Amino acid sequence: MIQPAGIYIHVPFCAQKCPYCDFYSGRYTKTDAERFTEAVCRNLTQLPEQLKADTVYFGGGTPSLLPAESLARMLSAVRARCVLAADAEITLEANPLTVTEQNLAAWLEAGINRLSLGVQSFQPDVLRMLGRRHTPQQAQNAVLRAAAAGFRNLSIDLMCGLDIQTAACWQADLAEAAALPVTHISSYLLKIEPQTPFGQQPPALADSDDTADRWLQMHDFLTAQGFRHYEISNYAKPGYESRHNCKYWQLVPYYGIGPAAHSCYDGKRYAVPRDLAAFCNAETQPAECTEPNACTESERIMLGLRLAEGIAFADVPASRDLLLHRAKPLIPQYLIYENDRLRMTPEGWLVSNAVLVRLLDGLNPE
Ligand code: SF4
Repeated sequence: MIQPAGIYIHVPFCAQKCPYCDFYSGRYTKTDAERFTEAVCRNLTQLPEQLKADTVYFGGGTPSLLPAESLARMLSAVRARCVLAADAEITLEANPLTVTEQNLAAWLEAGINRLSLGVQSFQPDVLRMLGRRHTPQQAQNAVLRAAAAGFRNLSIDLMCGLDIQTAACWQADLAEAAALPVTHISSYLLKIEPQTPFGQQPPALADSDDTADRWLQMHDFLTAQGFRHYEISNYAKPGYESRHNCKYWQLVPYYGIGPAAHSCYDGKRYAVPRDLAAFCNAETQPAECTEPNACTESERIMLGLRLAEGIAFADVPASRDLLLHRAKPLIPQYLIYENDRLRMTPEGWLVSNAVLVRLLDGLNPE
C-alpha cells in the first residue's frame, strides 16, 4: 500500500540566533516573511497534482513568528493542490514566547493540531547557558495555555549534554516535563557545530559516561511515566508518535519547501540551498538532487534501527543473511531478533553508531 506523503515547510526566521544552532534561519522581518509566504504558496502549486498527504510540518527556524494569517494561507495552498487527509497531523514548531491566547486560537482556526515547543530545559541556569530567551515559567505557561486552548497533541524538546546538567538537574527537567499535559517529548544531545558561537567557544560539556547515564535515566523515567520510547530521541504517549517524523525513518516520501528544506521522493533525496533571497526570487525553488539512490537496503536498515520496532527482514531480502550473521554477536545486549525483525535494545541505541558500523560495513545492496 502506498502511504500518503508528508509536506515539510522550512520557515527560516528566528527572533535571535541560539549559540548552538546551525539550522538555517535569519532575523524576522515583515517584508521577508511576506515574500517567503508567497514563494511557498507558489512552490506548493508545483507539487504533484492531487498528491495524497497526511502530514504537514512547519519547521525552522521559528515558524510561530509568522503571522497566523500566513500559516493559514500556506495551508490553504496545500489543500488546494493536495488531497490532505481529514485527520492530517499538522505541526507547528513554536517558541514558548510566541504562545499567546490569540495565536493559539488562530493556529487552531487555521487547522494546526500539533505544537512542538522548543523548551530545552526548565532550569534557569541551563536556559541561560543555551542562550534561550524564555524562563522556565514561560515554558510551563506556554504548555498549559496550549492545552487549555484545545491542543491535545503537544510536544516539547529537551536538551542535555552540559556538565551542569547533573542527575538531579536532569531529573527535575524530566519530572517537570512529565507533569505537564504533553504527549510527546524529543530529547537531543547538545552537539557542538563548528560554524556556531559554541563552535568557537564551547561550553563545558558532560563526559560520555555521564551523558550515557542521563540517557538511560531518561529512558527509565519516561517509560515508567507511560511514554513509549519509539525512536532514539523521541518518546510519546500511545498514539502520539510524530507521524510526520516517522516518514523520515520509514522512507515514506516527503516534500520539503523553503530554503534549506530537504525532500525524499521517487527514491531520491533533494535539498534546497540555504538562501532565502534565491528561494523567494525563483519561480521554482532550486532543489538539487543530493542522493540519487536513497532507498537502498543499507539506508532502510540504518533508519529503521532508529525505531523501537526496528526492521523486518522481509524488507531487506538481499542483506538478510549477512545482516543476521553480523547481528548474532550483538544479541541480546545490543540487538533483539524476534518475529523475523531486528531491533536495538536501549543499550544498543546508546552506542548506535558503533552497532551500525558493525552491521553495515561494506553492505550496500540496492
Ligand atoms: S534553536 Fe530554534 S530558535 Fe534557536 S536559532 Fe535554532 S531554530 Fe532558531
